Amino acid sequence: MDIADYVYSMLREKDVILLNAYPGFGKSRIAVTIAKRWINDGGQALIITRSRAEALQLCEFTRQVGIRDRVSLFLGRESMCPFNARNSKQCLLYRLSGKCRVRKTEVSSSVMTCNSLDLFNDGLCPYEVNEALAYQLPIVISTHAYLSSPELYGKLMNIINTWNKPLVIIDEFHNVAAGLEESVSISIDELRQWASHGNDIANKLLDRVGNYTPQREVVVLRRFDIDDLLKGSELINDKVIEILTHFGNDLCAFTYDGKLVRLRCLSLKPIHDLIMRSQRALFLTASIGRRFSYIMSIYSKPSYYVAVDSLPREYRENLSVLSIVDVEFTHRNRLLREYLDIVNRSIKVFIESSPPTGGLAIFFPSIEYLDSYVNQYAPPVWGVPTFVLRNSSEAVNAIGTFKESARVTKSLVITYAQNPIGEGVNFLEQELVGVMIIGFPLPQYSQWGFLKSHYYKRLGINGFTTTYLFPAISTTTQIIGRLLRDLDRHKKVAVLLDGRFYRYRRYMPKWLMSRMRPMKLLQFLKASLWR
Ligand code: SF4
Repeated sequence: MDIADYVYSMLREKDVILLNAYPGFGKSRIAVTIAKRWINDGGQALIITRSRAEALQLCEFTRQVGIRDRVSLFLGRESMCPFNARNSKQCLLYRLSGKCRVRKTEVSSSVMTCNSLDLFNDGLCPYEVNEALAYQLPIVISTHAYLSSPELYGKLMNIINTWNKPLVIIDEFHNVAAGLEESVSISIDELRQWASHGNDIANKLLDRVGNYTPQREVVVLRRFDIDDLLKGSELINDKVIEILTHFGNDLCAFTYDGKLVRLRCLSLKPIHDLIMRSQRALFLTASIGRRFSYIMSIYSKPSYYVAVDSLPREYRENLSVLSIVDVEFTHRNRLLREYLDIVNRSIKVFIESSPPTGGLAIFFPSIEYLDSYVNQYAPPVWGVPTFVLRNSSEAVNAIGTFKESARVTKSLVITYAQNPIGEGVNFLEQELVGVMIIGFPLPQYSQWGFLKSHYYKRLGINGFTTTYLFPAISTTTQIIGRLLRDLDRHKKVAVLLDGRFYRYRRYMPKWLMSRMRPMKLLQFLKASLWR
């Protein structure tokens, strides 16, 4: 039975299904196929994916299966507006100044395009058209950002509340599975103003941060009453109130890093409410292996786990995952000269033994670590075009140039593990033939992480595994997943430079664990990696 048929048949019996399949398996197409069948059976479907680019790809798939005219692309004003108007005020300014000359507000025929500019060129506002259609059409495509914003989430819930048979599909679910996190920074001056208006919590915070410069971000206030925070609240940043009202205060804390106070919150509520309101829920991911499927127990309905665990044979033959077992890059040792040298020698071997054409990507666990390496060994002298990407906005522009370069010659990108190119960007043919991850990408230990870990424990699941191991394994899976395109035609290699990758291999999805080959550093430095 085809996997979409199977999942659809299971949706008749199970309220919540989690489908875990390797990157590139075609989960987004499955989402669209299932949404199509669901609406043909009289239902309505909300598909939420990670980013605008992925939402546009879903839209293309709906065109291909002939249901584009039944879909609204509900992506927020900034994403849809050709001038990137952030809100209605900015939109109004653009209209008054004549910069935007939108005339019509209603669409006379069905929308068949996924390009918002086509609507704009037709005299329509792409944002307003899609927002209006979201209340009329049976499929709405949106992004994870809608889950974190009280205003946007409220709009989604309003739409679902008018549906009689809602199905919610969340793609790239690993990004939100363990709850949504949000934070807002508050300056000391702002705190002083709140305090001068009689806000006791601001007074308490000022007391705790006064003359205190912590080494790293610490929790300064954990338990507080929302009513106390709202006392004398005229001056309080709207974002603070928004976070508390949207996220609740199940897990919220004020932290301080020596400069700014931050309100941090973690909440399961938006996902929980979506599940409860929908008749069925389908979650798609590549990073929630069977060992992490316990995370689903934090939501109130039981879920059914479906896994596609093995790669096609030709893919298996062309993918090597070399796991170096006798070195670890910890916070204590990784900046030592000796360890930076190991990194440098390993990168050199990786580049030299790769084919003459093709892209290579090196991922450091953090921007700070990347900077320490690049500063010490700058300028990179490997004799290949090299792109160093420190922030996500650079990635959007640089990635096209990198791909172009990789199609004709050996090219290198150096970045950090959470950069958007590590997830969601598709590299075809030889655009990426190798990745190397330096250091096991555990989130940095922090007091906030410690609180999260306790919170999960109180919910009955493993705190350390959920707070630290799950994001590290998820990041690793996504990065290696960038190699899983056109693997039947090209040999591709992943190098995992840290013993913990192999040690925690049982948490990796099966397709990845089965490809991991342990290797000592010395053996690796002499190996022909692409043979
Ligand atoms: S009317 Fe639409 S296209 Fe024009 S500025 Fe506003 S949001 Fe942008």
